[in-house]
Amino acid sequence: MLIVLNHKMNFLKEEALAYAKEMEGLFLKEDQLIICPTYTYLPFFEPIGYSLGAQDVSHYQNGAHTGNVSASQLSSLSVRYAIVGHSERRLFEKETSELIHEKMKELLDHHITPILCVGESLEEKERGETLFRVMQEIEESLQGFTKDELEQIIIAYEPVWAIGTGLVPKEEEIDRVIKRIKEQVFHTWQIEMPVLYGGSVNQNNISSLREIPSLDGFLIGSFSLDPKNVKSILK
Ligand code: PEP
Repeated sequence: MLIVLNHKMNFLKEEALAYAKEMEGLFLKEDQLIICPTYTYLPFFEPIGYSLGAQDVSHYQNGAHTGNVSASQLSSLSVRYAIVGHSERRLFEKETSELIHEKMKELLDHHITPILCVGESLEEKERGETLFRVMQEIEESLQGFTKDELEQIIIAYEPVWAIGTGLVPKEEEIDRVIKRIKEQVFHTWQIEMPVLYGGSVNQNNISSLREIPSLDGFLIGSFSLDPKNVKSILK
């Protein structure tokens, strides 16, 4: 089971350093835990016993792009995974599937595994459009990749209405969506793609969510901000 921790734009320097220190000596298998700190704190983390991820990447290769961070720069900091298409970026930064595709291409060219976030809004859920929305985001972002490239990609199913709200879909619903994602991806590309769930995962629901048959892991935001929580779920 893969666990991805998304720190978002949290912590000041000393807090990030303290967090990184807490993560020392975890002795997990390398690809079990992926920590995605804010860009500036990436060098604080020594990814031994876990892997390092980024929360985003530029779609540009290098050069005159003020404020951006490239896949090659991430790679030079031992980053092996990167979240792309998080709903906060789709919403606040107006990221489109085309842009997300370009970012994934950059990552794949630098041997960084993209974690593609997809998920429906509350309105879409209420209109019964969950699967339509999720498959649209997947197809738009993935079309054009080779089979070799597709085999490197991980999907995170994150209903937008469940992120940071304390609301979580029923387990059967998560299972249904993930199964349909896997079936559709297999049907279209003949690939077995891992699918994670993200959205208000915490100590109260993780044990039952873990039982979802189709699930390959979790993407965890706020609950991951306390290292004690992380250690408790890894036990
Ligand atoms: C997220 O931001 O991807 C996320 C899952 O956040 P939270 O766990 O806080 O809902």
